[in-house]
Amino acid sequence: MCKCLPFLHGYWTRAQEYTYSADATFATKPGHALSAEEKHVIDQNGTEQAGTGTYNKFYPGQGYFACRKCGSPIYSAQAKFDSGCGWPAFDKCFTGAIKMRRELNGRVEIMCTCGAHLGHVFDGEGFTEENQRHCANSRSLQYVKAKPAGELTETKLDTASALGQAHRPSYT
Ligand SMILES: [Zn+2]
Repeated sequence: MCKCLPFLHGYWTRAQEYTYSADATFATKPGHALSAEEKHVIDQNGTEQAGTGTYNKFYPGQGYFACRKCGSPIYSAQAKFDSGCGWPAFDKCFTGAIKMRRELNGRVEIMCTCGAHLGHVFDGEGFTEENQRHCANSRSLQYVKAKPAGELTETKLDTASALGQAHRPSYT
């Protein structure tokens, strides 16, 4: 293998971290201005096109992913893995960061506690030891290149406890 590749990979990752990152103050500024595309996903249960999201192939070695709308920490950088599905995938989240809702079609929607739509969660696919895949939209998240405030723990979700509610399912 070419000796340049690890170097180039490191350079690319650092360039991405710089381009995509917010600093630690992101979490202290609620009510972030959302673009029309972000509102479509976050407020209207939309789904960005597979393979197009900013964070799809983005694997920072540190930091965390916050809710794009309210700034709450949702995922550590370490929870992210490559599922190959076209959207950012995580196998656990910060404890208490996510609420669930079972859709009429049986899928389990995941939301920030502020109500922002993140995506869906799936069990039993065998990608990682946690055996859980949070399939999240890049547009729902903001990478923050800092440690989240406080001592946060991480957990997988108990999807069996997700309650169904009559609401508009997110088919698109
Ligand atoms: Zn939020």
